[in-house]
Amino acid sequence: MHPETLAIHTQTERTRYNEHSVPLYLTSSFIYDDAETMRAMFADEKDGYIYSRFTNPNVTEFEEKIRLLEGAEAAAGFASGMAAVFAVFAALLNSGDRVVCCHSVFGATHSVLEKHLSRWGIHFNYVDIGKTEEWEKSVSGGAKIIFVETPSNPALDIIDLDWLGKLSKKYSCILVVDNCFATPILQQPIRFGADIVIHSATKYIDGQGRVLGGAAAGKKELISAVKLFARHTGPSLSPFNAWILSKSIETLALRMERHSENAVEIARFLEKHNAVERVMYPFLPSHPAYAIAKKQMSAGGGMVSFVIKGGLDRGKRFLDSLSMSSLTANLGDTRTIVSHPASTTHAKLTEEERERTGIAPGLIRISAGIEHVSDIIADLEQAFQKIR
Ligand SMILES: *Cc1c(COP(=O)(O)O)cnc(C)c1O
Repeated sequence: MHPETLAIHTQTERTRYNEHSVPLYLTSSFIYDDAETMRAMFADEKDGYIYSRFTNPNVTEFEEKIRLLEGAEAAAGFASGMAAVFAVFAALLNSGDRVVCCHSVFGATHSVLEKHLSRWGIHFNYVDIGKTEEWEKSVSGGAKIIFVETPSNPALDIIDLDWLGKLSKKYSCILVVDNCFATPILQQPIRFGADIVIHSATKYIDGQGRVLGGAAAGKKELISAVKLFARHTGPSLSPFNAWILSKSIETLALRMERHSENAVEIARFLEKHNAVERVMYPFLPSHPAYAIAKKQMSAGGGMVSFVIKGGLDRGKRFLDSLSMSSLTANLGDTRTIVSHPASTTHAKLTEEERERTGIAPGLIRISAGIEHVSDIIADLEQAFQKIR
């Protein structure tokens, strides 16, 4: 069966009521018939549920869906995307190890490396996404983990996963890919040699702006270590959020198709607009890594970034002039969201760091919703008219 079908028909156990839709298991622990069964469960001699910090049927269903979609051996659910990022680092790195990371990663991932892991003697360095020689130089110096985001937030940089997969094998590194923007529907990094894929399920996987969640999927041996770390330290995904996310995954393929269709039309509209300096979208032929995007993604995704002429001031007036689109920090929602990274998510970076990450003062990020595309474009156009 295809991933879209497997994501719907995931094997789950029915209760004695034979329900059609998977029920919500809001229980912190599970009971046993006798003391011997309980002993065997705790000793890992018998499979089953013990306590919802470890596992819960709703979390297991969510993990199984992510595992199937990513084509992974194992998957682990988390309370948020950042809980997944941190657990992967903390479970696999020792003091003295090095992380080689692309410049353009999510703001909080920068903070984990710079403000926290560094306190425990874990080293890191950044490399520009397109500088292949620099990658090889950095990685050959001894790196435990290579961490990348493709497409990146918000500049929509693309890195060649096939090439990076081979590089990580050559130097025996663990390749970790944050696949939040593409989702497994549009890109499966494990096929290109990634060892672990990370998700903020808060974004497209929920897709309706309701709950936080995260996941890490990949090699069984690595994910087991990550799960053990989580079991001990407690960044567990709540059963309620897992239940919501599992339902959401059943419509993920449909939503990604519409998000991508709308985004490419918006990108084409912006590219022709005289108030726009530059548009970034992986599936526009003008994107510097268009050929790579075409090779590793089945569609361009729902995110479009553009630089408005007139910089920060004009950018802010543009945001204030929108009427339907939401000004909010989230992305991947059914509703169109517009944001200004330089003054919000990436405000803590220095001007120079923002420059390196491709965040111009006038850069505006659009998360194309699944409304009718004409209504989204009409909202953008009326905002351009107002600030003329
Ligand atoms: C939002 C986001 C995260 C963090 O996820 P949370 O669920 O907010 O913790 C990580 N990576 C990317 C690319 C994101 O967009």
